[in-house]
Amino acid sequence: MDLKHLREKIEPSAIGDDMYGLISELYPICRSITGDGVRETLRILKTRIPLAVHEVPTGIPVFDWSVPREWNIREAWIKDPDGTKIIDFENSNLHVLNYSVPVHEKVELEELRAHLFTLPDQPDWVPYRTSYYREDWGFCLSQNQLDSLTEGEYEVFIDSTLDDGHLTYGELIIPGELPDEVLLSCHVCHPSLANDNLSGIALVTFLARHLQECSTRYTYRLLFIPGTIGAITWLALNERRTERIRHGLVAACVGDPGHLCYKRSRRGDAEIDRAVEHVLESSGEPFDVVEFSPYGYDERQFCSPGFDLAVGSLTRTPHGQFPEYHSSADNLQLVQPAALADSLATYLAVLDVLERNGTFLNQNPKCEPQLGRRGLYGMVGGYSDSKGLELAMLWVLNLSDGDHSLLDISGRAGLSFDVISSAAEMLIETGLLERNQA
Ligand code: ZN
Repeated sequence: MDLKHLREKIEPSAIGDDMYGLISELYPICRSITGDGVRETLRILKTRIPLAVHEVPTGIPVFDWSVPREWNIREAWIKDPDGTKIIDFENSNLHVLNYSVPVHEKVELEELRAHLFTLPDQPDWVPYRTSYYREDWGFCLSQNQLDSLTEGEYEVFIDSTLDDGHLTYGELIIPGELPDEVLLSCHVCHPSLANDNLSGIALVTFLARHLQECSTRYTYRLLFIPGTIGAITWLALNERRTERIRHGLVAACVGDPGHLCYKRSRRGDAEIDRAVEHVLESSGEPFDVVEFSPYGYDERQFCSPGFDLAVGSLTRTPHGQFPEYHSSADNLQLVQPAALADSLATYLAVLDVLERNGTFLNQNPKCEPQLGRRGLYGMVGGYSDSKGLELAMLWVLNLSDGDHSLLDISGRAGLSFDVISSAAEMLIETGLLERNQA
């Protein structure tokens, strides 16, 4: 079965619920850029897709960086002057500054304040903060809770370790006819945050499940990597493999009810850019397209000038642009099954365009071939728009000189990619058209 037929079989509402179920299962885990939270996350994903899990030792140099020490945490709390636990990691892993070094001290409120992080504009929410590359300890809490604290001596306890260990990532390769690859990547380093980043993990997992059921032209490489350092590490260890990557998408923030937003690759006019934009334009739904910028998710690394891969990022509301971003409000209430299903369907539609696109050669380029003699003219059954299909065949034959892709022809003819590619399939069946192998 090819991707086109798989897409016709899919039941979006059931898949949205399944994706939401996976997000709910992963939500409580305390993830970070290294450590057992990522391992546990990948272990759960392995029950659904045959991921390979890679462990890269601390200290390995990766371009201008090195693989950091591994962080793990068991317990963390603050007790007030009466000895009552007022903040507890048990209740939410967001309460601990991610990558906090261990601490066990008694401190006055004034001193404690320097280690407390809040969101003054959203006084009920707990922020998500990290301290990956600077040794520090801290706690995150709501502004309202901070305001309620009284003077006195507080006991702080963080039972964490920051030791030599590994950076863990997951990878799945789904072979196609060609060695040429499509890269699909998501970050796996955020703790209890649903839209950024569990929605992206669920999306790439479900893409993997569907791609495994299909026969594809491209080989698919799916990465579940810690943000930034994971992408840098993967690129450093796999530099030569990147030559095979033809197209790619970084998945994140795909579960909120906002509309879809595509951030172009650094190249700006790569085939992936045009494929995504075509799918969004044909959807009839509102969408945004923005130019590449060297900020955001791991497209920053894939599109760094030494690689300049054709990798864009397809999200719903982009990072930092929804109020719940990086806070306790990015929770299981923010992500919605219908939005997840719509994002997945859009990704599959984009991959379907990539699978079917290409340049072709008209085998009868001197004057029009006789379509009627081949049963292609005026007698196309089963198509609601046979006139459109005939016109599409004429466009495909005329422009299939090896230079114009089906996406080019669709744009020039003002006809949908779907009708153009259906026309190409019919012409191939009669021998009038061949895929350009060059
Ligand atoms: Zn984030």
